[in-house]
Amino acid sequence: MKTRSLILILGDQLSPAISSLKAADRQCDRLLMVEVAEEATYVRHHRKKIAFLFSAMRHHAAALRDAGWQVDYLQFDAAENTGSFTGEVARAVRRLRPQRVVVTEPGEWRVRAAMDRWPAELGLPVEILDDVRFLCSRAAFADWAAGRKQLRMEFFYREMRRKTGLLMDGEQPEGGKWNFDAQNRKPAKADLFIPQPHRVEPDAITKEVLTLVGARFGDHFGDLTPFWFAVTASEAEAALDHFIERALPSFGDYQDAMLADQRFLYHSVLSLYINAGLLDPLAVCRRVEAAYRAGQAPLNAAEGFIRQIIGWREYVRGLYWLKMPGYVEENFFAADRPLPDFYWTADTQMACLKAAITQTREEAYAHHIQRLMVTGNFAMLAGINPKQVHEWYLAVYADAYEWVELPNTLGMSQFADGGLLGSKPYAASGNYINRMSDYCGRCPYDVKQKTGERACPFNPLYWDFLVRNEDRLRGNPRLAQVYRTWDRMSEEKQRDYRESAAGILAKLK
Ligand SMILES: Cc1cc2nc3c(=O)[nH]c(=O)nc-3n(C[C@H](O)[C@H](O)[C@H](O)COP(=O)(O)OP(=O)(O)OC[C@H]3O[C@@H](n4cnc5c(N)ncnc54)[C@H](O)[C@@H]3O)c2cc1C
Ligand code: SF4
Repeated sequence: MKTRSLILILGDQLSPAISSLKAADRQCDRLLMVEVAEEATYVRHHRKKIAFLFSAMRHHAAALRDAGWQVDYLQFDAAENTGSFTGEVARAVRRLRPQRVVVTEPGEWRVRAAMDRWPAELGLPVEILDDVRFLCSRAAFADWAAGRKQLRMEFFYREMRRKTGLLMDGEQPEGGKWNFDAQNRKPAKADLFIPQPHRVEPDAITKEVLTLVGARFGDHFGDLTPFWFAVTASEAEAALDHFIERALPSFGDYQDAMLADQRFLYHSVLSLYINAGLLDPLAVCRRVEAAYRAGQAPLNAAEGFIRQIIGWREYVRGLYWLKMPGYVEENFFAADRPLPDFYWTADTQMACLKAAITQTREEAYAHHIQRLMVTGNFAMLAGINPKQVHEWYLAVYADAYEWVELPNTLGMSQFADGGLLGSKPYAASGNYINRMSDYCGRCPYDVKQKTGERACPFNPLYWDFLVRNEDRLRGNPRLAQVYRTWDRMSEEKQRDYRESAAGILAKLK
């Protein structure tokens, strides 16, 4: 039978409910899935991330075939592989002569720009559909943003609560408050019982992919094994069940905590599954709400979790599309220092950075506070070029796609957009890390020392950052108190801070 539509399914569109399949027909439409070098190498992604996506794609293709779809699947090593979406769609168009190409919109501006050229390049209609897995379409977000001076997440989040009805009590938020974050800042103690994330044994398909990735991506960052990620929707569902039962009840309380020997604490480790399409974000939130309503989790945990998904996740995606393509070039502090080598090697004395980077290398995972207040905070204080910081985050985490990673890195963690996402930079001295973690007790640096050889580097770098960027930050009302503290310091103390910081920065390679 002649092919009507050629439907391209991207590697992060592994959902049976994806919009491109909604009006499709199993008899006359053909699905195309491709493992292409351009996507796997445009940054040098963590090897676990590549293995996760290739394996999940292969499993998804098998599930689609079982459901009666005709799927053309191209493996990375196939001799005829041209290495790009454009090349592979063009080849399939020549082979199948479809009437049109259909695709759900991609998550990255770069891919969307290529797709927008396809009608001219391929000489046939290309239909690009909204990605309805998101609650807020790009157009709806642009409407929300239009005419607002400030795009604060909190107000956007309230609209998403009303729209979904999640944790609503009629017109009012459940429990009388929209946000229970103030309860979610407890430091954790090492003797707490902390569950581990759900782990899955690699099956034959995953083992084959691990061999491929080991052979072909040897120069990429990150340990390939042990590999324990879920790679199918049902395995990801099991990971969700596991999280709700064991970790959700304490998720809120310890959301900002860090422990050297507990890499996951009470976090869900679900972002990679949600972002790739193995779990539906709204369905995940409904499960969490149901656990709260059944008395299995407190409100601060359920609200905190749901806010991350229908609030932050949707909000950063809206901002990404609103601000691209210029967003990636923003550099509010004109920071130009290259990313230090230790971000790749973990070869640093600083215990907090060493732990976060080692864990990133081994797991392709670090939780939010490690990303924001350890690796991100250090990069901003040290004046690292934000585009290099962005490329690092995009490469090293299994959940990283530009639409979600870029606003989190460039906006939230580096303040490189000058305050679009946050009202002040997430800059902190060693004191914050000491309060929220047990890293400092294991560190050769002394978190209590402010300056000098043994002082925690975050301490002098914190003040140096504020003084270096005084012209950009002093007018910020949320920093007024901090600058008053600086102004009250003796000149000698100020000089000590700046000299200590200069010594640390001079040694960064
Ligand atoms: C510098 C930096 C870079 C980041 N890069 C990414 C990235 O590439 N991909 C990514 O998915 N998240 C990113 N985040 C957000 C967040 O750190 C991760 O979503 C989270 O750590 C994933 O782990 P988890 O599933 O255990 O999350 P949990 O703590 O269990 O949170 C639950 C879910 O909420 C969502 N979520 C939480 N925080 C955010 C957020 N700030 N933005 C969007 N979604 C959020 C995720 O889907 C997550 O699975 C980044 C944060 C920072 C500070
Ligand atoms: S002393 Fe400073 S460098 Fe060392 S772990 Fe604590 S915050 Fe990190």
